[in-house]
Amino acid sequence: MLRQVAEGVLIQQSEFCQTNTVVVQGQAGVLLIDPGILGYEMAALADDLRELDQPVVAGFSTHPHWDHLLWDARLGAAPRYGTARCAATVRDRRLTDADAKARIAAQFIPPDIAPQVSLDLFGLITGLPAPAAQIPWDGPQVRIIEHQAHAPGHAALLIEERGVLVAGDMLSDVLIPMLDLNDTADPIEDYLAALRLLEGVAGDVDVLIPGHGSIGGADQVRARIDQDRAYAHALRDAHVPSDPRVGPSATYGKDWLPGVHARQLQRLARRRERDRTPG
Ligand SMILES: [Zn+2]
Repeated sequence: MLRQVAEGVLIQQSEFCQTNTVVVQGQAGVLLIDPGILGYEMAALADDLRELDQPVVAGFSTHPHWDHLLWDARLGAAPRYGTARCAATVRDRRLTDADAKARIAAQFIPPDIAPQVSLDLFGLITGLPAPAAQIPWDGPQVRIIEHQAHAPGHAALLIEERGVLVAGDMLSDVLIPMLDLNDTADPIEDYLAALRLLEGVAGDVDVLIPGHGSIGGADQVRARIDQDRAYAHALRDAHVPSDPRVGPSATYGKDWLPGVHARQLQRLARRRERDRTPG
């Protein structure tokens, strides 16, 4: 079910992890950002777009994680973009190979939704030449704000003339910051730098669309930046965060997010240990 959140910008939210798919109306069709998760949801989206006479003319994946790299044949064959680093990560990790898909299906996709997740067109991303300032398409200018935080080549998108920030997996009201702990020298500082980058455009934002969670108004942008920064600081200082998102009454506070939080603490402690050991 499509819902308008700003002029010419609509979202559809998945039942899986409140994943937001963003539809931006252009001259001859729409740009689809993070296309969706479940087959029947993408089919419904394709039907809605057909009814509106709005074909998909471009796609974009904010980062190279499975829940942002899916596609459905019914959405058509438009070019699907990502940052150069996003596409390189898909390539280097051979994510489109059959054995990688089997591993993703086994390790990452929850069994209860697996029958509704098709990996047939998974990860077929074209990297935009770096540094790409905007998405090449015939519609409102979409500025790419690339940073290293949650995943390699992670991109937030600013649609300035609509006052919309598509934050990818940053600034969620339901998920804590999840750091990229693979092959990164200083993941916490990377995360803080990314938040500063987003803070730099906060004044231009009336509508905040996170990859997962609820849509925020202008006041939410700084509030969520502050909340994410406090969490990153807590990780850095190995404090217990007083973060409502990992509390027992939170949406994902039962066991999943507290588990993610514990694993992040553990891996960061191990890195500190390793860094202290000479040689
Ligand atoms: Zn995600």
